[in-house]
Amino acid sequence: MKTRREFLSNATVTLLLIPIGVAACSSGSGSGSSSPASPASGSNGGVPGCDGVGATSSVADNHTHTVCVPASDLSSPPAAGATYTTSTVLNHNHNVTLTQAELTQIHAGTSVTVTTTGPDPNHQFMLVMA
Ligand SMILES: [Zn+2]
Repeated sequence: MKTRREFLSNATVTLLLIPIGVAACSSGSGSGSSSPASPASGSNGGVPGCDGVGATSSVADNHTHTVCVPASDLSSPPAAGATYTTSTVLNHNHNVTLTQAELTQIHAGTSVTVTTTGPDPNHQFMLVMA
């Protein structure tokens, strides 16, 4: 009688543990399948609507900006270079100027760091193809 009771209680514990283990496994794979929605995918640096290389600036005065270098300027860089306007944050934005050589470097996969111009404080962008 006593041994039968112990067997039954052990069996109950085992039966309870198995469903918990299965549930933990399935919920783990479920959350993993949702990760491709991450904005880090792609080469636009998480900048919405950017078809080229996007980037988020360094922090200056507790804020950042984003900028987008269009794919068309990377595939055929203008001889005079190009100037881009950053996103507007705290009622201001900045300009980023890239030379033809810098655009060519980015397109070739080399990272280029530029400092913005415009109202102080200025920010730095690291532009690189993903
Ligand atoms: Zn700023």
